[in-house]
Amino acid sequence: MLEVPSTTTPRVVFRYENTTAGRVWLSLAGDTFARVVATSCGQVLLEAIETSGGRRVIIRPRTPAELAQDTCNAYARPVSTLDATRGGETLLSCTDSRPVVGRSVLDRVFDMPGRTYTGTGTGSDSELAFESAIWHSGAVCGALGAGAADDEILMHEMMHAVRQLRGLMHCAPMYGDYDTQEEFFALVVANIYIACKTPAPGDTSLLRSNHHGFGPITGSAAGWLDSHRRNRVYLGQMRREMSDFWGNLSRIPVGQCWFNPVRQVEFPPAAGSGATGAAGGRTTASVTAGPVQFDGEPQG
Ligand SMILES: [Zn+2]
Repeated sequence: MLEVPSTTTPRVVFRYENTTAGRVWLSLAGDTFARVVATSCGQVLLEAIETSGGRRVIIRPRTPAELAQDTCNAYARPVSTLDATRGGETLLSCTDSRPVVGRSVLDRVFDMPGRTYTGTGTGSDSELAFESAIWHSGAVCGALGAGAADDEILMHEMMHAVRQLRGLMHCAPMYGDYDTQEEFFALVVANIYIACKTPAPGDTSLLRSNHHGFGPITGSAAGWLDSHRRNRVYLGQMRREMSDFWGNLSRIPVGQCWFNPVRQVEFPPAAGSGATGAAGGRTTASVTAGPVQFDGEPQG
């Protein structure tokens, strides 16, 4: 296997076989990554990767076995699950949010029951299994719906990855068919990304509603924030855990992003202004570019 850093940042690495198929994969995945970071929202995520303790996102092809099991998917998998998990939190399965229980060799020798694991929160490299071509128009996963374009899938997975790099992963159960809170964060940020790249203000058919398929959100873009009473609670958690990333998302100019609940929370409209949250707030500088399941249970 070869590893080549992205031309954009050494913190994102492509790992591939030096074969014809491997080089085709590299070209396509590199193109997808380049389109992500060409947007303001992609630049914000890139900045977060660059400021995650030197840890790396390693993008690799999905294996034939992975593709055979679940064709239309992608994963972000921490190299060290315990280091990717928030410090002091019990390690939860990202499949069903139950505590992961294991038995060590000594447990078996002593005939002891299994035990749970606790995250260190120190952060881990993340291995991101991704295929670009399957999501292209006309390909096998090319018409699944909202949030299912190749760059949108990659953005979603990179949000999982950055939380793993920073030791924030915690697959606690979540309402609204998000499955876990990690999926909530990935979906919201990927939707902001979609609104950053698409010059179609208010076209909510483009925004993915939950983690069960690729259906669009209902209601208006500005109305999503208060469409569930707990959306603000979990966005508040993201604000506390990732204040730098949050701040940069909130400062993306309205004219560059027509769905941005982070901005709505950070810069609420003045009472009686009639403005939507996304349109309110002070004018700020444009986003600065960066310098530039147990034992690997993946987050899809
Ligand atoms: Zn996901």
